Amino acid sequence: MTCFLVDGECALDAGSLTEALPLSAQRRIRRVVLTHAHLDHVASLPFLLENLYGRREPLELLAPAPVLAVLRRDLFNGRLWPDFTRLPSRAKPTLRYRAVAPERPFRAGGLSWTAIPVDHIVPAYGYVVAKTGRAVLFSGDTQPTGRLWTRARRVPNLKAIFLEVSFSDAQAAVARASCHLTPRQLPAELAKAPGRVPVYLYHMKPPSLPRIRREVEALREPRLRLLESERSFRF
Ligand SMILES: [Zn+2]
Ligand SMILES: [Zn+2]
Repeated sequence: MTCFLVDGECALDAGSLTEALPLSAQRRIRRVVLTHAHLDHVASLPFLLENLYGRREPLELLAPAPVLAVLRRDLFNGRLWPDFTRLPSRAKPTLRYRAVAPERPFRAGGLSWTAIPVDHIVPAYGYVVAKTGRAVLFSGDTQPTGRLWTRARRVPNLKAIFLEVSFSDAQAAVARASCHLTPRQLPAELAKAPGRVPVYLYHMKPPSLPRIRREVEALREPRLRLLESERSFRF
């Protein structure tokens, strides 16, 4: 379940924040930026909010408006889970939504973020995350895509690309139906990406993982490596 912690205070997606982090680290999180509203990317948000309840500063949830609309309507709706924008009170809420405009950089913490639309079965966005002249790029969930790469080629000093690959080539029909990538499609995506930047693959569905590993190795593409859980990077 996808989840990246950036600079300790910011998370990109929240699939497993409460499972991965002790309470003390969860309390340091000020904001969560979302790629899209699928459950494997937001599943720990209800419990994160429960764990932060009563903190002076609300948790800020940032994403383009179509993503936030799903969370309001289908998750924090007072039926599946409480509406934390009015708890403990409207004046001092636990949760605050902040809609961001796609393709326009916005500041969150000490970082500059830009949401780029990608091609998934629901509205979804990749992100360029930049700080002091260095940047990394996250694809989010996507099938073969274009704008993300156009943008990536213009990012100065891009240090790493985090790219989804969800299913093995044996599951290509499922991948196509759910708008995800398989290893066979990676060379064409890499050809659109800026050269010589390491590409960390993530979002492997557990039943596909052993095959994905073999299929990626067979591509013999030195830029590609599979991301492991709980790894830390400094850029
Ligand atoms: Zn998804
Ligand atoms: Zn996903």
